[in-house]
Amino acid sequence: MYAAFKDFLTQELAAIADAGLYKNERVIVSPQGAEIEVSTGQKVLNFCANNYLGLSNNPKLIAAAKEALDTHGYGMSSVRFICGTGDLHKTLERKIADFFGTEDTILYAAAFDANGGVFEPLLGQEDAIISDSLNHASIIDGVRLCKAVRYRYQNADMDDLETQLKLAQAQRFRLIVTDGVFSMDGNVAPMDEILALAEKYNAMIMIDESHSAGVVGHTGRGVTELYNMKGKAEIITGTLGKAFGGAIGGFTTGKKEIIDMLRQRSRPYLFSNSIPPLVAAAGIKMFEMMTETNDLQDKLHNNTAYFMQKMTVAGFDIKPTQSAICAVMLYDAKLSQDFAARLLKEGIYVIGFYFPVVPRGQARIRVQLSAAHEQAHLDKAIAAFTKVGKDLGVLK
Ligand SMILES: *Cc1c(COP(=O)(O)O)cnc(C)c1O
Repeated sequence: MYAAFKDFLTQELAAIADAGLYKNERVIVSPQGAEIEVSTGQKVLNFCANNYLGLSNNPKLIAAAKEALDTHGYGMSSVRFICGTGDLHKTLERKIADFFGTEDTILYAAAFDANGGVFEPLLGQEDAIISDSLNHASIIDGVRLCKAVRYRYQNADMDDLETQLKLAQAQRFRLIVTDGVFSMDGNVAPMDEILALAEKYNAMIMIDESHSAGVVGHTGRGVTELYNMKGKAEIITGTLGKAFGGAIGGFTTGKKEIIDMLRQRSRPYLFSNSIPPLVAAAGIKMFEMMTETNDLQDKLHNNTAYFMQKMTVAGFDIKPTQSAICAVMLYDAKLSQDFAARLLKEGIYVIGFYFPVVPRGQARIRVQLSAAHEQAHLDKAIAAFTKVGKDLGVLK
């Protein structure tokens, strides 16, 4: 059998490569940070990590993780409900709830699992899920696993959301689902309008704060802080794999009864291992640091504002953003790849995105800012962008 299957896969892989969509991975040999070393020995400035607060290599988190290795060992060897619940897991769940101003939290191995396991236990065929068209793949997969009636509205389009909510009046319970920040444009979901529509059409709200937590809002509490709606979303999901240290882990936080039900019925929670104690310990430390000082958020916000301003002055077409994602629009797919390759030669690591990751004719370079960046890093990136922009005829 495998001979035939091998031929099939070889052809499919060739088709992926022919379409220019084959993903090659760059091997990093240093810790994640503003400056990284890749396996070729080249040192580059990294502008494509989700390391928004620069915590991926933070000494305090490393110390907390090392200490937990000594006090709590390496692994749990169990799901939570058998013997995988440690004191550190419970403490971290409490810290996350306190941070977001929610009632309770349930941890998962990843946000992908949190989203994969949130819908099916809560909603059935009598119910409705109304989902933004640009929601993360894990939300799309989670919705697929659930029997609820599905409605989709165009990205952040409130007229369309209202239309879908009217249709969804036919169902028993309604849940509006949105990413807090959309990863390709860096735009923030219009939560004030979503909240108003949810109240008008009697719906609940779920926000995936994976790209917004730690980033958006003055103290990094995400879009519920930005829109001053603490406690108003029934469900928030998020990751420990981006701003919050970047290791691994996800969570769902929100109303007590919802979290209770997820602990009883959520399949990725019931049938998958609990996160290692060292990750929980570093997570606890991280939330303590976030409540002690706002330095990292302030630095990230300053870095983002500085970069956006200088790039606009340089003449680049930048999508408006309230997040730490800055989309430098180039529109042409090949240009986006050439531009990114040239930037790498200049020591700037960014990724060019094009169809089907973004709409056709909307190719861009996505720059992700971090509190790990110093002004010299930003200046170097802006200078490199400007040089390559002129060479490739993007700037006059
Ligand atoms: C990154 C991301 C996830 C997945 O997070 P993991 O913890 O890495 O699984 C889910 N949702 C959104 C919106 C994300 O950006």
